Amino acid sequence: MKVVLLRHTQDPDRVCAAAASSCYSANGASDLHQDLSDKKVRRLLEHTVGRGHHSVVEHAVFTFSLEGVSRTLTHQLVRHRIASYSQQSQRYVRFDAATYVTPPEVEDSPEAKRVFDRTIEEAWQAYRELVEAGITEEDARFVLPNAATTNITITMNARELLHFFRLRCCLRAQWEIRRAALKMLEECRRVAPVIFENAGRPCVSGPCPDDDSDCPLFPGPYGLLEETRKDTPK
Ligand SMILES: Cc1cc2nc3c(=O)[nH]c(=O)nc-3n(C[C@H](O)[C@H](O)[C@H](O)COP(=O)(O)OP(=O)(O)OC[C@H]3O[C@@H](n4cnc5c(N)ncnc54)[C@H](O)[C@@H]3O)c2cc1C
Repeated sequence: MKVVLLRHTQDPDRVCAAAASSCYSANGASDLHQDLSDKKVRRLLEHTVGRGHHSVVEHAVFTFSLEGVSRTLTHQLVRHRIASYSQQSQRYVRFDAATYVTPPEVEDSPEAKRVFDRTIEEAWQAYRELVEAGITEEDARFVLPNAATTNITITMNARELLHFFRLRCCLRAQWEIRRAALKMLEECRRVAPVIFENAGRPCVSGPCPDDDSDCPLFPGPYGLLEETRKDTPK
């Protein structure tokens, strides 16, 4: 899996803090933006976002490229509606060779891996035979598995990303989307450390809202990103 932050709003913390500040000032964000110290940026964001004024972080936008992920992952990803997506098309791209994601659980079991690889190769063989028989790629693809790899470009604003990270960095999220979400969060933290400071699974910043005593991290808060990664398959 490759996760690349392609572009983002320049200086996201400051832009959102200036937007927040403009709500309470006679001046506009263009003036306020210049004069904000790092300390003021932090205070403004804590004051507004911490009290439910979440729309101020919608001004920061992030575009990611996820490459070599499975269609299982993207099917879950595109359920997040406040976002824009562009996904590699199985109608217009012909997939001669089998490219697919193998779950770690399968990878770790020789018997499961044998069944998995055989089934995938058979599906791909059927795809090639259908295309060679004159069936269009858009119809031949019906035999391809959820494991088939794909590339997808995503744009989300910081508000939606915060929501996405709460759901998808949680241990209850499926391992592949969780792994992608953790990588995306790492990139977001690098460029917007204040907005994403407490982002991630809910128990990073408070008790688990689901009261899920089956979770190994219950009751939280359990710590930060690094500890989460230990529980995530490589
Ligand atoms: C662990 C886990 C298991 C899941 N299991 C299943 C499953 O078995 N089956 C299944 O179908 N899905 C499942 N999902 C997907 C889940 O139901 C959501 O579709 C997905 O997580 C997108 O999140 P969302 O709807 O909160 O938000 P987004 O689409 O990201 O939207 C963000 C927020 O905007 C608001 N919003 C957006 N659109 C509307 C709207 N039309 N009306 C009102 N408010 C809106 C809501 O507040 C929403 O939380 C699962 C998700 C997780 C994390």
